[in-house]
Amino acid sequence: MTLDKRLGQRFLPYGANWLDWSDMTELREVIDHRVLFRYQTETESMASRLERVTCERLGAAHTLAVHNCTEALRLALIATRPRIGDRVYMPAVTFVAVAGAVLSCGLIPVLVDADDSLSLDPTLLPADAERVIVAHMEGTVATLPEGVPYLIEDCAQSLGARFPDGRSVGTAGYAGTFSFHHNKILTSGEGGLVISNDEQAWAAMRRYHDHGSARVPGRYPTWNEDAHYGENFVTGEQVAAVQCQQFRHLDELLEGLERMYAIAMRDLPDRADLEVRPRAAGDAKVSLRFRCRDRALRDAAVAALTAEGIANWTLNKYLLPEHPVLTGRRSIYADGFPWNFAPEGSLMLSHDGFARTRDRLDRTLCVPLAPELPEAEQVAAVKAIRRVLEAV
Ligand SMILES: *Cc1c(COP(=O)(O)O)cnc(C)c1O
Repeated sequence: MTLDKRLGQRFLPYGANWLDWSDMTELREVIDHRVLFRYQTETESMASRLERVTCERLGAAHTLAVHNCTEALRLALIATRPRIGDRVYMPAVTFVAVAGAVLSCGLIPVLVDADDSLSLDPTLLPADAERVIVAHMEGTVATLPEGVPYLIEDCAQSLGARFPDGRSVGTAGYAGTFSFHHNKILTSGEGGLVISNDEQAWAAMRRYHDHGSARVPGRYPTWNEDAHYGENFVTGEQVAAVQCQQFRHLDELLEGLERMYAIAMRDLPDRADLEVRPRAAGDAKVSLRFRCRDRALRDAAVAALTAEGIANWTLNKYLLPEHPVLTGRRSIYADGFPWNFAPEGSLMLSHDGFARTRDRLDRTLCVPLAPELPEAEQVAAVKAIRRVLEAV
């Protein structure tokens, strides 16, 4: 296979590069044990092992495994014990799942414009903001607001990224959420984690995700006198097994990304009209992010890379002020819940009606890196990218 062909396949999920029968010891263990329900056994389940390992690696007091990051966001929001119609400030540039999680909890999303790095601009938040979700998009560590009682970090796209002080993303606020969906850094097809250092938050999330119960592993669930209702977000052992396998490769994967990022920063041409943006030391180097002179040049670069079979993407899809789920204020409920609790006016915070953000998105181009390639192939891959970009 030619190098360019291989490059074309180097798309997320990076963890899928490590999916191999010879490496699936956890999955074999679960199948040999013939128990796929995590609370069937009193001994440490595979889901509990995943939670232990992720707590240690991420530096969190508690982790809870769930089916996906959308459930994780819902749990984090519910644990704050909100009132229906409470506002949640969230990024105007992120995946629509965040808005869906907010709305399905009966809460009202307020879209906050992005800063230069395309992360939520904390200077736009009102001083009395109670609930804020910040998303670390594409491995980029966002600046966090200070003094927010319920700060939720959505780390679906940034597993392994670190703040300048070395702490893992997801550990700085009330809760952090992660995804193992197919398009993320590590994958189990679907999968999610919520982490928290707050004892009460974790207890509430654990209860709610298991029918409101006070379950003891190995037993039928029990309900305390003061129990509230819940749902069932309890993960399966087979999924946790794949996640444990994926997680074993996280550091190797991040190192592979760092190595290729360094090669690219050394070898790519210094072009002011097609500038590769430097990333912060703690970012997960998911991609090379280019900022182009204008949209025409960006689109030409997209076409040229695609023609050569080199994977690339843009971020325009994340602009939520134009997303039908938000502009239409529609609901599956007959009474329009929870939009019927929302005020009439604008639920967006921006200095300029998102004009600058729209322009930045139009000029942004991302090229994924290939963590699993040996160094010589990474050098060749960067040359291939260089050749294409020099010709546009
Ligand atoms: C993918 C994604 C989600 C949702 O994750 P799922 O595991 O698919 O539910 C939430 N937020 C962001 C930023 C994402 O990219």
